[in-house]
Formats: sequence, structure tokens, C-alpha cells
Amino acid sequence: NKTILLNNRPNGKPQESDFKFTDSDIPVVNNGEVLLKTKYVSVDPYMRGRMSDAESYIEPFQLNKPINSGIIAEVIESKNDSFTKGDFVSGMLDWKEQQTHNGKDLLKVDADKAPLSAYLGILGMTGLTAYHGLTEIGKPKEGETIVVSGAAGAVGSTVGQIGKILGCRVIGIAGSDEKVDMLKSKYGFDAAINYKTTEDMTKAIADATPKGVDVYYDNVGGTISDAVHANINRFGRIVVCGAISLYNSTSLPTGPRIEPILIKKSVLMQGFIVNNFSDKFPEGMDQLSQWLKAGKLDFSETIVEGFDNIPNAFLDLFEGKNKGKMIVKV
Ligand code: NDP
Repeated sequence: NKTILLNNRPNGKPQESDFKFTDSDIPVVNNGEVLLKTKYVSVDPYMRGRMSDAESYIEPFQLNKPINSGIIAEVIESKNDSFTKGDFVSGMLDWKEQQTHNGKDLLKVDADKAPLSAYLGILGMTGLTAYHGLTEIGKPKEGETIVVSGAAGAVGSTVGQIGKILGCRVIGIAGSDEKVDMLKSKYGFDAAINYKTTEDMTKAIADATPKGVDVYYDNVGGTISDAVHANINRFGRIVVCGAISLYNSTSLPTGPRIEPILIKKSVLMQGFIVNNFSDKFPEGMDQLSQWLKAGKLDFSETIVEGFDNIPNAFLDLFEGKNKGKMIVKV
């Protein structure tokens, strides 16, 4: 029964050697517990923060202890009245092939309603992040212009589609021509920009947004965001969801001082953690499921096969190797 532990706290970009594999016997199931078999593992950029011991909104991973993340598992034995053998559950679980659990905070998921992996993406944490971040902070109005960075990822691709459903003009920023094409053809973005091949991002964004930027949904931070901020409209809203371009920085990043822009243009800039909206998750889930069922929302997944490949799938997020949600199928 393999387990993946945190071996080192990375300095800069995380490496394969920051993870360690161990093997042990399958645990015995006690009364009140279930035995879970891991099926799908979510790897997410925010986990980079948990590899460090800096203070944050979520506790750091412990050295030489199992790493955990969102996982879909199958109940293969149950001594807990709330679960039966064959149930599928979603929860924050350890990176183990099999594990026992007392059932607390496990959510049953229905394999007939959606593919199981979708509960880690569009019908899970990243879908809710997109929905609540955009609607509660971005508050887009019909006819407005939304720019999304990290647009071809799990959160970004959902934000763009919700923007279109709400009647906005949507521009995406992503890291390859293939992703740019996908944003326009599969997801209906009005325009998309490859930040890796565009020399003057400020001008490219200005060209793509003749009426300026009303809402900037930021998944990446750094110089891409500097270029969007330069095009923000009066009363614009900047939704600071993620800053993946800065997560591996080893020194304090600096850049343009944007306070004068925020003042002159009366811009709202707000960071958030998806759990801030936990009271509203039922509403968010309901809306996302309805749009999905009605064919108004689509999603992509990059599925990596094999328990042993979990660390590499995580590392590949920082190389942009995923389209949509990065998931490991065990
Ligand atoms: P994604 O599916 O978007 O995967 C990460 C993507 O980031 C990569 O595919 C890559 O795409 C892009 N990327 C990697 N490095 C860089 C870089 N240096 N500069 C620009 N882009 C880069 O991940 P998620 O959708 O899960 O998450 C997106 C963002 O949202 C993350 O920053 C994450 O931390 C944040 N987040 C925040 C939450 C919250 O509660 N606030 C909850 C969930 C996510 P490309 O090829 O385009 O470079």
C-alpha cells in the first residue's frame, strides 16, 4: 500500500526529490470506519504553498508525513453505518493507495450524475472558485469586458464560460497557441492571447479590449497582471484568485506600483479563498450542475494515469502541461 510523503520543503521550483514513496500493509478497519481505495487525485497549484512552512490560511504539509489533497475514493469495506461498500466519496484524503477513515467530512458523489473526476473540477473546488469569485467579487454586468489569466486551466476556463453565459465579452490569456485556439473554439472566448509569444502584452490587451477591462479575473499575478492592470476601466474589479507565476519566487517580487491606478479609476481589488463562500456552495453547485446539464458549460481534463505519477502531475502544473483540470487516475 503505497503512500507519498513530503520529503523536503522546496526552495523555488518544487522537484521530484521533494516527495518520498513508502510502502506499508493495508490498514485494519475499526468499528465506525471505512476502508477507501483511491480512484482520482486532484493536484492543485495552491499545494505549493502548503509545501512551505510560511504562515497561511491552511496548515502546511508536515515533513515525512503523507501529503493530502482532494480525492475521489471507493468504499471497499464499511464498518460505518453512513456508508456501504461500493459508495464513491470525495474528501481531503492522504496520498495513499488505500486508507481508513472515520467518515467525517466525506461527501458521497453520484457516478451516474457526472463522471467521478468532475467532482474534483467543474463540480468541485475549482468550479466553485470560478463561480463565486467571478459573481461575488467580479460582479460582471451584461455587455462588460472580462479578462481572465490562466484561462485554459481548470478555474480560468470555467470563469470565461460563465462570463459568456452572463453576456460579457471575454478575453483569455494562456501559454500556448493550442490553448488559445481551444479557448476560442471550444469555450467561446471572444479573443485569446498567448503570453509566451506576445512581446507587448499591454498593447495586446488594449487591442483585444476596445472598451477597456471591467473585470480582471487573475489566476497568475506578476507581469501578465501588470499588463492587464494598465488597461483597467473606471470602477473596474480585480478578482485576485491565484498568483501561480509568483508561487516559486525566492525573493520578494516587485513590480509597478498600482495604487495610483486603483485610486484614479476607483478600482476594487480583492483577494479571496474559495472557502470564504462555503455558505453559498449549495447554490454554486446547483447553478454549475444546471449549466452543465443544459450544455452551457463544458470542461477539459488532463488525466495522468498511475499513483506513481502524482508528484509529476503536480510539478507539470508549473510547466503549463495541463488543459483544464489536472487529475491523476489511480
Ligand atoms: P490551472 O488548471 O490553471 O493550472 C495551472 C496553470 O497555470 C498552468 O496550466 C499554466 O498554464 C499556468 N501557469 C503556470 N506557471 C505560470 C506562470 N509562471 N505564468 C503564467 N501562467 C502560469 O490551475 P487551477 O485552475 O487549479 O488554479 C488556477 C489559479 O487559481 C492558481 O493560481 C490557483 O492557486 C488559484 N486558485 C485559487 C483558489 C482560491 O480559493 N483563491 C482556489 C483554486 C485555485 P499556461 O500554459 O497558460 O501557462
